[in-house]
Amino acid sequence: MKYFVESLGCAKNLVDSERFTAILKKYGFRETLQPEDADLVLVNSCAFLAASLSELDAVLSELSKTINSQTTKLVVTGCVTKRGLKEFQEKFPEVDKWIELKDFDAFEAYLLQSCLPKGAKPRFKIPAERQALQGGQHVYLRISDGCENYCSYCMIPSIRGKLTSEPIEKLVEEAQALSGRGRELVLIAQDSCMYGTDLYGEKALPQLIEALHDLPDYDWIRIMYMHPDHFELEWTELWKKYPKLLPYFDIPIQHVCDRIIHLMNRKKGYNELKSLFDHIKHALPEAVFRTTFMVGYPTETADERALIGKFLEEVDILHAGVFGYSPEKEGISYNHPEDFDWDKREHLETELAIKIAEAKEDKMQAFVGTHQQMLIEGYDDSLEAFWGRLWFQAPEIDGIAYVQGLSPQDPILVEVEVVDALTDELWCEKI
Ligand code: SF4
Repeated sequence: MKYFVESLGCAKNLVDSERFTAILKKYGFRETLQPEDADLVLVNSCAFLAASLSELDAVLSELSKTINSQTTKLVVTGCVTKRGLKEFQEKFPEVDKWIELKDFDAFEAYLLQSCLPKGAKPRFKIPAERQALQGGQHVYLRISDGCENYCSYCMIPSIRGKLTSEPIEKLVEEAQALSGRGRELVLIAQDSCMYGTDLYGEKALPQLIEALHDLPDYDWIRIMYMHPDHFELEWTELWKKYPKLLPYFDIPIQHVCDRIIHLMNRKKGYNELKSLFDHIKHALPEAVFRTTFMVGYPTETADERALIGKFLEEVDILHAGVFGYSPEKEGISYNHPEDFDWDKREHLETELAIKIAEAKEDKMQAFVGTHQQMLIEGYDDSLEAFWGRLWFQAPEIDGIAYVQGLSPQDPILVEVEVVDALTDELWCEKI
C-alpha cells in the first residue's frame, strides 16, 4: 500500500507528520510522490493564521479533484482539529477521517479498522519514532509543545495548548534514534527558553544542552525560538562551555516600541531588548542574530514603526523576518477582519522587508574573505558545486552556500573561505 503525506505549517508540525509517517511505514506502506497513486493521503494541517486555513482549503480542494475517493483514503489531522474543524468538515465531506492533533493512537486504530487487510494485528509501538520527510543534514528536535505566553495576536496557545516539555531522557533517546539523519540538531519549541518549567519547575535548557552535547553523531546544535523575555543572561556561558552549540541566536522580538510590545502582551521594550542583544554580543563577539518583526499592529503609528529601522541601525541583526499583523478572530487583539486594510498591511510588510534585504547584502558581504565552517548537504550538477549551509544559516530560512574544490571524499563538515556573498547565497572555496 502507498501513502502520500502533505505536511503544512511549521517544523513543529513536521515532527508530528514524521511520527504519523513512521506509523504508516511500520504497517508496510511505502511513499509515493503522486497523491493520485496513494492508497492513503494524510494532510497534517496548520491553523495558525487565516492564511494557513486558506492554504489548507486550497490543498483539500485540489486533492478532492485529484484523488479517486473510491480507492484513496483522505485523512486530515493537525491544528485544524483545534480551530475551524466544523467549517472544514462541512465543506469537505469527502475527507474519510479527521484525526485529532497528535492523536497517533487514533490514526493507528483507523489504519487497522479501515485501511489494512482484515485481521491485521497492531504492531509494536516505538515511542517518538519518526520517518524523515525532509532531506538535508538537519534534524528537528521538538523539545516542548504549547505555550502560555498569550501574545495578543497569537492563536498557538488555543491550538497547541499549555506548555508541555519532553523529559530530557526522552529527548536524548529521540536524538540518538535520529542521529543517522544529519549532523545538525535543531531544537524547536514555541518558546525554547521556557523548556522544563512545567516538568522540572525551572528553566532546564542548560541541563538539556549538557545532555545532548555528549551525543557523538551531532556536530552542530542550534536553538530556535528563544523568547527575549525569558532568556537568562548567564546562559551565554553555555555557548562558551559547549563548542557544538552554535552562537546563532534566534530571538523573535516582534516589535521594539514599548507601547506596541505591551499591547502584544510582551514585556521587554526598546532599551531592554537592545541591552539583551548587546549583552550577548559582548559575551560572544562571534554571535549572529535572527529575529522577526510584526508590522501593522492595530493603532501602530508610522513613528512607532520607524523605531524598528532605528533599532536595526543600532543592533547588528543578520537575519530578520517580517510579517504583517493578521486579525485572527479568536485572538485577544481582535479587530474586524472585514474592515482590515490588507493592502496597507502588505505595503508595510514589503516596505520593511525591502529595507532589511538591502541592509542584509552588506552584512553578508562582510563575511567575504573569512573562514567558516560549512555543512555539506548535496551536489548541484548544473553549478558543478557542492551546496549546504554555513554555521550562521539555519535550515530552510537563511539561504544557501556553495563550495567549489571539494571532492566526494571530503568530510561533511568542512572549513571554507567565503569568496562572494549575495543576500541569501554565499560562494565559498575549500581551504
Ligand atoms: S510566544 Fe507568543 S507568539 Fe510565540 S507561540 Fe507563544 S503566544 Fe504565540
